[in-house]
Amino acid sequence: MKVDFLDLSKQHQPIAEKLNAAIADVIHRSAFIKSEEVALFEERFAAYLGADHVVACANGTDAIEIALRAFNIGPGDEVLVPAVSWISTSEVVATAGAKPIFVDIESTTFCIDASKIEEKITARTKAIIPVHLYGHPADMQAILKIAGKNKLKVIEDCAQAHGAEINGKKVGTFGDAATFSFFPTKNLGAFGDAGAMVFHYLKMKIKASAIANHGQTERHNHTLHGRNSRMDGLQAAVLLVKLKYLDKWIQERRIIANWYYEELNPVKDIVLPSEKEWAAHAYHLYVIRSPKRDDLMNHLKENGISTLIHYPKALPFQPCYATENYQTDDFPVAAKVQEQILSLPFFPGLSRKEVQYVCDQIKNFHH
Ligand SMILES: *Cc1c(COP(=O)(O)O)cnc(C)c1O
Repeated sequence: MKVDFLDLSKQHQPIAEKLNAAIADVIHRSAFIKSEEVALFEERFAAYLGADHVVACANGTDAIEIALRAFNIGPGDEVLVPAVSWISTSEVVATAGAKPIFVDIESTTFCIDASKIEEKITARTKAIIPVHLYGHPADMQAILKIAGKNKLKVIEDCAQAHGAEINGKKVGTFGDAATFSFFPTKNLGAFGDAGAMVFHYLKMKIKASAIANHGQTERHNHTLHGRNSRMDGLQAAVLLVKLKYLDKWIQERRIIANWYYEELNPVKDIVLPSEKEWAAHAYHLYVIRSPKRDDLMNHLKENGISTLIHYPKALPFQPCYATENYQTDDFPVAAKVQEQILSLPFFPGLSRKEVQYVCDQIKNFHH
C-alpha cells in the first residue's frame, strides 16, 4: 500500500465546483489586486477568530515582519523566539534589523518553554514571538504574564495553528498581534502564497495595511517606506470558499489524530503528541518521537509510506547563525528532539485503512 504524506486533492475535489466558480468570477471582473474579496476575507477571518482586525498580506513570513515593523521593532532590539520553528520566525527578526534570541522548547508541546524566557530578557528585548507549533497552542497565559511584567510585545505566529484554541478561545486573539500563513499545505491554505496579520487596534491595522501597500494610507500618499505585500484577489476568493470548511476539516484532523492515538498508544518506544487540558490542538502535523527515528523513517519508506521531519535541524544550529557558535547544551530539548521527531501522513481525507496500515508498519518496526 502507498500512503502519501499529504494529498490536497482530497480536500479540493469535493468543493471543486465552488472553487472554480469563485476563481472564474475574479477573472471575469479582472479583480486581481485590492479586490473586494480581500476586504471580505479580512472581515470573515476576523469573525472566525473572534479578533478585532485582520490585515491580509502576501505570505506568512511578511506578516510577521510587517507586524514587527508596525510596532517599530528594528535595529538594536532583541526578539525572543523558540529554538524550534520554521525559519521564518527567526528570519524576519533579522530582516527587520533586530536580533533573534532563541529560547528552548518544551518536550511535550514542542512550543517555547515559558519557564526559560525570563533568563533571556535584557534591556534590549522588545518582543516575544511564540509559535503554536504543529497546531498545539503555546502557553499564552504564562507568556503574557512575563510580557506584561517586562513590557514586551507578543506576536503569536499562528502559521500552523488556524483553529487551535486555549480555553475555548482561538489562538491569534491573545497577543498584541498575531500572524497567519495560508501557504497551500497549512490548515487553511490558498492556491499559492498568502498571509494575514491580526491586531486589536484600528490604528495598527491602518499602519500594517500601509506597510503592506507601499506605505500608502490613501492612493499616492506615501506616509512611510512600505513594500508590496498584498494578498491577491484570486487567493482571497479561494480562501473565502475554504474558510467555510475549516472547522469541519479541523474536526476531521482531530478524529484522525485519535485513530493514531488509539493504535499507537500501546507502542512503548514512541512518544505521541499530547494536548494540554487547556488546549485544543489543531493538528496541523502529527509528530511522534522515536529514539530510532531514521531507521523507522526508512522502514516506512520501504513500505510505501511518506513521512517528513519538521525540522531536521533546530534554528540555533542553522548555518546562518554559525557565528553565534550555539552549542547543543544551550538548547538541550531542541537538540534532542531534532534527532527524534517524525511527522506521519496526516490530512483531511486520510482513510482509517491508511492510518491502520501506517500504524501496523510502525508496530512491525518496534517489535
Ligand atoms: C509556514 C510558516 C511560516 C511562513 O509562512 P509563509 O506563508 O510560507 O511565508 C511562518 N511560521 C511558521 C511557524 C510556519 O510554519
